[in-house]
Amino acid sequence: MTGTDVYDVVVVGAGLAGLAAARELTAKGRRVLVLEARDRVGGRTLNESIGDGNVVEVGGQWVGPTQDRVLALIDELGLSRHATYNEGLAQIEFGGRTKRYRGAIPPLRPMALADVAQAQVRLDRMARTVPLDAPWTARRASVWDAQTFDSWLRRNVRTKGAREVCTLVCQAVFAAEPADISLLHFLFYLHSGGGIDRLISTVDGAQQWRIVGGSQRIAQRMAEDLGDAVELSAPVRRIETTDYDVTVVADGRTVRASAVIVAIPPTLTSRIAYDPPLPGHRDQLVQRYIQGSVVKCMAVYAEPFWRRDGLNGQATSDVGPVKLCYDNSPPDASKGVLLGFLEAGHARRLGQLPAADRKAEVLACFARHFGPAAAEPEQFVEKDWSQEEWSRGCYGGYLPPGAWTAYHDTVRVPIGRIHWAGAESATVWNGYMDGALTSGERAATEVHTLLDAGARLIPG
Ligand SMILES: Cc1cc2nc3c(=O)[nH]c(=O)nc-3n(C[C@H](O)[C@H](O)[C@H](O)COP(=O)(O)OP(=O)(O)OC[C@H]3O[C@@H](n4cnc5c(N)ncnc54)[C@H](O)[C@@H]3O)c2cc1C
Repeated sequence: MTGTDVYDVVVVGAGLAGLAAARELTAKGRRVLVLEARDRVGGRTLNESIGDGNVVEVGGQWVGPTQDRVLALIDELGLSRHATYNEGLAQIEFGGRTKRYRGAIPPLRPMALADVAQAQVRLDRMARTVPLDAPWTARRASVWDAQTFDSWLRRNVRTKGAREVCTLVCQAVFAAEPADISLLHFLFYLHSGGGIDRLISTVDGAQQWRIVGGSQRIAQRMAEDLGDAVELSAPVRRIETTDYDVTVVADGRTVRASAVIVAIPPTLTSRIAYDPPLPGHRDQLVQRYIQGSVVKCMAVYAEPFWRRDGLNGQATSDVGPVKLCYDNSPPDASKGVLLGFLEAGHARRLGQLPAADRKAEVLACFARHFGPAAAEPEQFVEKDWSQEEWSRGCYGGYLPPGAWTAYHDTVRVPIGRIHWAGAESATVWNGYMDGALTSGERAATEVHTLLDAGARLIPG
């Protein structure tokens, strides 16, 4: 082994979390190497060209108020943001009828609307009692972690319409069915992102802004600054630890370091071999982390023609398979882009179909909302994240019943010289780009402190 193979810290994964960790440690004077499995940086953020210098994002794209870290970083990196298109009327297809409406409150039957409002107040109130750094210590944690969100809906939401709306919120926010997810995890996540309205809104919410040039620019800019410290096409297969050092084995590359930060989705951490093996507690937690199911689909047109009809491109449906649509056109509207999400059960079903059949189902939804012209796009772009070897689903990982109360903060707790980052380990904006960044910086601080305390590599 040569001297160049020895680092202070190796970071596994060049997503936002890994790059943020590397950036922070480099700034503190540490010698860092980032090993990335893919041939690109950005992980779950990915720009795709639609021609004429325009891109769409097939991964994470929006940022919103209170996502302070990502907003600050956008400024630090010299990037800028623009508002999500929101002029005009939204549409809702619900209970067999389609209506247009302005503002945040959809025109549902009064009984259903009241029921939704009551459920939202209750869920937000319950969520605020869940401590973000220790959800299992909530007073009602054991009760809430013993049931799914679906069980809660059946017991607490009376009208079918309101249950449909709550189901839609769950599918949209978690890419999971209500029956998949622990009520405690659901509540933790609501609190982590600031409540239901904040999570689902385009105005004053998580879908408020987009990044000019596409969200992957954040990772690309960080990687440019890190230069040779980021190595691509280097999937990490094995991590060996001793009391004195860490050896990280990637395809074509073996390096030694004083510590390693593993900044990948929890479920993928168990696909790396560890020597000695990780404690059973950690492995059992990771066996429970489920990546959501999403196919993100975009149809590209010569112009955003729906705007001429006074529509803002936003549509909600209880039929699906596309249950949520947005106008994802470039800021200068030089093209029209409709974005549709296939989520949870719909993503699982349509993910099995040939691409042409999936496209036909998605375009049929767009045409129902925006007229026959929507069935004739110039281009169609889609990404099924469950097919991605180095993601295996999105938007992020969530927990089924029983996991938070059994395994506590195991997803974050370092094991010897192995530290953990990634959006799933964040306390604030868990699962979002903002949470990914803060998780990386948190892990960087842990490792920096460890090294400062003298846990240096003993040259061998
Ligand atoms: C379709 C979609 C829509 C989303 N929408 C939004 C949104 O609008 N706003 C928002 O804030 N968030 C959104 N998200 C979530 C957001 O993109 C993620 O939370 C965030 O990007 C996660 O960053 P990360 O660094 O934690 O993980 P990742 O981005 O998953 O990065 C992990 C990296 O590790 C690499 N890797 C994995 N295994 C190994 C290995 N063994 N060796 C080496 N490298 C490895 C991967 O290739 C990847 O590059 C969305 C995600 C998706 C997919």
